[in-house]
Amino acid sequence: MRTRFAPSPTGPLHLGHAYSAMLAHDMARASGGTFVLRIEDIDQSRARPCWEARILDDLRWLGLDWPAPVWRQSERLAEYGAALARLADMDLLYPCACRRRDVQAALGAPQEGDRRLGPDGPVYPGTCRARPMADRRAGDALRLHMGRALRRLGRGGGFTETGPAHAGSHLLNPDTLLRGVGDVVLARPGWGTSYHLAVTLDDAAQGVDTVVRGEDLFEATQIHVLLQRLLGLATPVYHHHRLIRDAAGKRLAKRDDARAIAKFRRDGATPEDLRRMVGLGPAGRP
Ligand code: GLU
Repeated sequence: MRTRFAPSPTGPLHLGHAYSAMLAHDMARASGGTFVLRIEDIDQSRARPCWEARILDDLRWLGLDWPAPVWRQSERLAEYGAALARLADMDLLYPCACRRRDVQAALGAPQEGDRRLGPDGPVYPGTCRARPMADRRAGDALRLHMGRALRRLGRGGGFTETGPAHAGSHLLNPDTLLRGVGDVVLARPGWGTSYHLAVTLDDAAQGVDTVVRGEDLFEATQIHVLLQRLLGLATPVYHHHRLIRDAAGKRLAKRDDARAIAKFRRDGATPEDLRRMVGLGPAGRP
């Protein structure tokens, strides 16, 4: 088994990250496999080397280890560009100048139970869909033409989930992808990629066969499996774990410094204390 932890260096790791990383590490170890670490620093406006250094330090303190070198997404822009070129050759991309507020304005106020709220927020109404790639201008995003992508793939495809909330086999759902997700952004302006494209390519390139991550990303898995099929990549097994919540039941956020690993360290907690707090048994016995 090859698992991974893929933090973004935009703030301190908190208990939820500790749980995710320790679980992925435990699962790899229990199977005699490998745990890899990847720094997801494509958002260069928010990523900071100092956060990366602290993240590595916290993870080592937790007792985790991983093979060198640690991959950084900012060093893989050529690979992302090559995948975008392939998707463009398949006629599946178009440039888009709409900003978040344009999308909101085109949609009007969202209604309760509205299916237009995909994993990335509102489903794109298609304002720029007819624009050809030759029309791409600086500052444009690139979107996937979901309808054409689904027509190209036909029926089939799916993934196996082993996490507690959704365990079982999941088929790709064309209706969800078309009406609940829509034309996702695959290259954000100034990034050269997007989270969905980078994570899909990197998991495949690093040979990750079991993706362990929080339940909040379960919905996005449909997008990742679709991209794997378009690009001829293997689909890993997914394990979406429960989220660690604060006393009020809210999921922890980066700014939740009270639950930062660094804070527990300063207060004299041990890695075993943190394992207990997140409901993991002693190291080596997940
Ligand atoms: N970089 C993402 C985060 O820090 C993790 C994405 C993933 O595990 O797929 O939330």
